[in-house]
Amino acid sequence: MNIINFAGIKVDNVTLAEASARVFALLSSTKPQLIVTPNPEMIVTSQSDKELKEIINSAALRVPDGISMVVVSKILGKPLKERVSGIDLMLSIIKSPLKKGLKIFLLGGKPGVAEKAAVNLARKYPAINIVGTQDGYFKDDAKIIEEIKKAQPDILFAGLGAGRQEKWLNRHLKELGVPVSMTIGGTLDVISGQKKRAPKWIQALYIEWLYRLITEPNRWKRQLALPQFLWLMFFPKKSRGSD
Ligand code: UDP
Repeated sequence: MNIINFAGIKVDNVTLAEASARVFALLSSTKPQLIVTPNPEMIVTSQSDKELKEIINSAALRVPDGISMVVVSKILGKPLKERVSGIDLMLSIIKSPLKKGLKIFLLGGKPGVAEKAAVNLARKYPAINIVGTQDGYFKDDAKIIEEIKKAQPDILFAGLGAGRQEKWLNRHLKELGVPVSMTIGGTLDVISGQKKRAPKWIQALYIEWLYRLITEPNRWKRQLALPQFLWLMFFPKKSRGSD
């Protein structure tokens, strides 16, 4: 598969349709597979977080979840086909005609958020088969793992916060035995109606970051990752390597 390297972080150069097709192919794989959605913030964090870097680089599918990644890749002459956000990939799987009977588990968000997201999804996509929900603020890993195993989902969507979700899934992937697990960040907040996604026209202007800065000002520190990402990409250290 076509891979693009962002400061040492491997990202698959796929369209949304290609990513979705790949997820369905992974469902019949013999061992549990992890899908991640690297964005500029995670690329910056991964520079000093080796565990996160290794998890992303060894995941079965890594979709580029940031429009700045698309722009930068074009400028650097190795263009990404498009941005593939976690929420778009998740919804495309749910809407796919291939998903017949696909058993889905929703994990993450504050108490009540995953349940509300499940209700909203079932209202919009009556054929959906959600076999379980669980909030993301649990303390007892073993209890949650048992619950997920009992529900036997085909796909586990987990939004436990960037960094934690990748590590938690990676650590428990084998034990969970779920064919495909995918990180989704704050997607359940959006599907449940807790948070609004930037309107399409704002996304089209590449200023979703500005929308989030205005609507969630307490994220300003996290958004400093964007200039750091640009710095990393345009002034790479020799040791970081690229291909
Ligand atoms: N979250 C969680 N458990 C935690 C920390 C965060 O379930 O211990 C959830 C949080 O409620 C929210 C999501 O993780 O739904 C936010 O993830 P992230 O910050 O990666 O998402 P982004 O806002 O960047 O999409």
